Amino acid sequence: MQICVIGAGYVGLVTATCFAEMGNQVVCVERDPQRVARLAQGEVPIYEPGLESMLRAQLASGQLSFSAQLKSGIRRAEIIFIAVGTPSGEDGSADLSHVLAVADELGERLERSCLVVDKSTVPVGTAERVAQRINAGLARRDVRGRVTVASNPEFLKEGSAVDDFMRPDRVIVGCDDERGRELLRRLYAPFLRNHDRLLCMGVRAAEFSKYAANAFLATKISFINEMAGICARLGVDIEEVRRGIGSDRRIGTHFIYAGCGYGGSCFPKDVKALIRTAEHEGIEPGILRAVEARNALQKTLLFQALREHFNGHLHGRVVALWGLAFKPGTDDLREAPSLVLLEALLNAGAKVQACDPAANAGVAARHGQAIESGQLVLSESPYAVCQGADALVLVTEWKQFRQPDFARIRGAMRMPVVFDGRNIYDADQLVELGFLYRGIGRPAVGSCKASAA
Ligand code: NAD
Repeated sequence: MQICVIGAGYVGLVTATCFAEMGNQVVCVERDPQRVARLAQGEVPIYEPGLESMLRAQLASGQLSFSAQLKSGIRRAEIIFIAVGTPSGEDGSADLSHVLAVADELGERLERSCLVVDKSTVPVGTAERVAQRINAGLARRDVRGRVTVASNPEFLKEGSAVDDFMRPDRVIVGCDDERGRELLRRLYAPFLRNHDRLLCMGVRAAEFSKYAANAFLATKISFINEMAGICARLGVDIEEVRRGIGSDRRIGTHFIYAGCGYGGSCFPKDVKALIRTAEHEGIEPGILRAVEARNALQKTLLFQALREHFNGHLHGRVVALWGLAFKPGTDDLREAPSLVLLEALLNAGAKVQACDPAANAGVAARHGQAIESGQLVLSESPYAVCQGADALVLVTEWKQFRQPDFARIRGAMRMPVVFDGRNIYDADQLVELGFLYRGIGRPAVGSCKASAA
């Protein structure tokens, strides 16, 4: 099939590459010409495991190409996917300016009718607005035929995006037109060979499903974080409780890990947007507000714990920070809990030595001044950042942080204290090695003496 994907971000790039991998002819249109130039050379501007090699192979085979010109991208397209950003607007609702700008441009440039698909996360009713705008443009130019706009929300997870796209749990297709549904069914058939999990529904239901899914997952996280807060007061270990409740299949083991809060480009903005939608409809979104509030609080807990540990005196303290990206496997820093902690530590006068396998560059771009002054040091080595540290804080649980050589770390640190923001470490083992251990919703264990070194 001839496909055009508009937007070469996390979703657009993965979508375009994976469709090309299945033998489709794909043009990915991106408004940023520098990004297009890099992509045309096979240089992927984001960190996403497995994407670059697949993208290069498809570029070489000629199945995939990039363009900054919408007109050439859509010339032969049977299906056009819109995969541009929908960030939070000032009032928290989804900012649709990018999506609607694409709709206007399609109205000005399309020469014939075709199927347009919203892959961006958009509020209910957006497909109708996009269709109206495109069709008004076609009518103005006396182009024959009208476009149908379908909704096909994306559920990939950064860090495992290629795999998620190639082997989706389900594909949701919201399309009120039989021909459009059939086209999308054909397009997705190779991705669903093992299990046909293509769910067809109305456009508005598809649009809403994406928000409901993200809101539910965010709710699970905030719920377990609230439980962790109660556990901490009661001297109960949330990790034992997690195992206890996760074995109940009605609850399940996913998304019930206590931690220092969720971030990323989706949960925070989608929960916010759903709150605004509910308000607009006169519904009080009490649960969603609580989810948001708990998450905001959760992002401050590590700093509070550090401040308490140092009796309010963080000035001059050296803090080693492991993990900056909002989650492992990505360089995405949007709404990352690490940024809240980093900001607070820098404001309190602490020196921060941070390490992330993919997101150092993004942090360097935001905190150039702190780097220049020496207050912030970024390194690729988890061990180097522990040198002379008064505390080690784990924020993002990259694989390389899961089983480090703690004896070596103990020797490098000035004070052997670990704040485990994701509850991934064995507290007993750390205590045995002479560390003070503090997790989220877990009793503090061990004591710490200054290192002899
Ligand atoms: P992104 O910000 O990484 O990428 C968007 C890209 O679109 C940018 O490169 C931008 O330059 C480009 N763009 C904007 N306007 C354009 C235009 N008129 N023409 C061509 N290109 C244009 O965004 P993303 O993370 O890929 O998210 C895209 C959408 O998918 C959002 O609605 C998001 O909520 C949703 N989504 C994201 C994820 C995720 O994990 N990132 C997962 C599922 C759904």
